[in-house]
Amino acid sequence: MPKFAIIGAGPTGLGAAWRLEELGIHDWELFEADSVPGGLAKSFTDEAGFTWDLGGHVQFSHYEYFDNLMDDLLPDGWFHHERESWVWIRDRWVPYPFQFNIGRLPEKERWDCVKGLVELYRNPPPGKPTNFSEWIDRTQGAGLKDVFMRPYNYKVWAYPVEDLSATWVGERVAVVDLERVLKNIFDGTDDVSWGPNNTFRFPKNGGTGSIWKEAARRLPQERLHLSTPVRHIEAKNKKLHLDSGAKVDYEYLISSMPLDQLVKHSDLADKLTEPASHLQFSSSHIVGIGMNGQPPDDLETKCWMYFPEDNSPFYRVTVFSNYSKFNAPRPGETWSLMAEVSESPKKHVDLETVVEDCIQGALNTKLINSRDDILHTWHMRLGHGYPTPSVSRDKGLGVLLPELMKYGIWSRGRFGAWKYEVSNQDHSLMQGVEAVDHLVYGAPEMTVWYPSIVNGPKPWK
Ligand SMILES: Cc1cc2nc3c(=O)[nH]c(=O)nc-3n(C[C@H](O)[C@H](O)[C@H](O)COP(=O)(O)OP(=O)(O)OC[C@H]3O[C@@H](n4cnc5c(N)ncnc54)[C@H](O)[C@@H]3O)c2cc1C
Repeated sequence: MPKFAIIGAGPTGLGAAWRLEELGIHDWELFEADSVPGGLAKSFTDEAGFTWDLGGHVQFSHYEYFDNLMDDLLPDGWFHHERESWVWIRDRWVPYPFQFNIGRLPEKERWDCVKGLVELYRNPPPGKPTNFSEWIDRTQGAGLKDVFMRPYNYKVWAYPVEDLSATWVGERVAVVDLERVLKNIFDGTDDVSWGPNNTFRFPKNGGTGSIWKEAARRLPQERLHLSTPVRHIEAKNKKLHLDSGAKVDYEYLISSMPLDQLVKHSDLADKLTEPASHLQFSSSHIVGIGMNGQPPDDLETKCWMYFPEDNSPFYRVTVFSNYSKFNAPRPGETWSLMAEVSESPKKHVDLETVVEDCIQGALNTKLINSRDDILHTWHMRLGHGYPTPSVSRDKGLGVLLPELMKYGIWSRGRFGAWKYEVSNQDHSLMQGVEAVDHLVYGAPEMTVWYPSIVNGPKPWK
């Protein structure tokens, strides 16, 4: 059997190592820069006893393999939740998906949205969309675009909708059906069932990171090298250079480090810097607000909430103590909110003031009533947060991924393969598993090459 090297102990790298062990292949070594496994799916418990994920991680899956692994890793360790997701806009809550529930908007905005949809049905724009802005024009209409889609998506992605492609949308954005929208308005009903994650589970203790800590704990420790950054990749000679100066030979490399960094730190930089320049990303600020007391009535059952307006810096806030009461130090006496703020060269964030800006945003949007109830705050910036599905991304990936494979490098996972549409934990783990299955017995890698199939309907379910 060939020797496998793996970079990264996030879901992708751990998935690859897990699968190799499962197949009885023990000739692998995993190198992780951090001292803790989990990657972006890690969790932290701060000095006040609040547990935080790196952004609210919702556990839902497209794969039986992933579900079975979750059951195996934490057999009794889950809370199960119904999604309760809302949009805060014009000083009120509108249920998610926003598009189906515009009946809750004030009269002017409601009419603007309906007018845009009617216009869309009367005069559908010709041709296929070439970017996300045009996709919105063709599926949501001008009213929804102005009221929600444009401002909200800029806050999430940190790039204007014109910079994003239309290819990633799939199951991520609800397409509007005029009849359904009008019926909801006339019936006065909330239409909340759409989407793949309408139920989800969450670890009882230790946040999302507890899953990946447990996966790492069960792997042979002598092959799992934490606190071991890979400094340089000699692709032509199939050799890793570790920070310590040691060198490691491999036959196949499964790498989950960010693809732009892989190129930069390899002997292929001359050849691949141009295609890598098509990769864009945004950074994420995760701001935790630990609160005294109990959540106000209107947050008691909410999971996460979206914020399209500029009275707050965050695009999403999770009531993180609702996912597990043990995410707060004294359940029943404390609770927690976790806010996410995006940053990019096109959207500046002030590191000095971002926590204070989030607190002010929480007051402006009535998430909290008073600063006096705040017990503790926590902040972390993720350099690589979201792999941007930019207009020219696929041009770069179309060169990078196949070219690296010629050198025995399978770059996979959230930032390894850079495909937002298959970059959640389940997708990432499966990219690691499928890379192994491909290298060992030639099975097709469905997730990285066929996102719309893995995310699409499963008629057999
Ligand atoms: C704000 C936010 C919200 C999210 N919400 C959800 C959600 O609700 N549901 C969900 O399923 N997923 C969610 N995700 C995605 C989830 O975190 C990822 O799917 C997952 O962590 C990706 O796994 P990965 O192994 O591909 O990459 P990563 O988790 O990024 O792991 C890569 C690892 O490689 C290591 N590394 C990098 N460079 C080197 C080097 N040179 N040498 C050695 N090691 C190196 C890193 O330290 C890291 O541990 C969210 C992510 C973010 C940022």
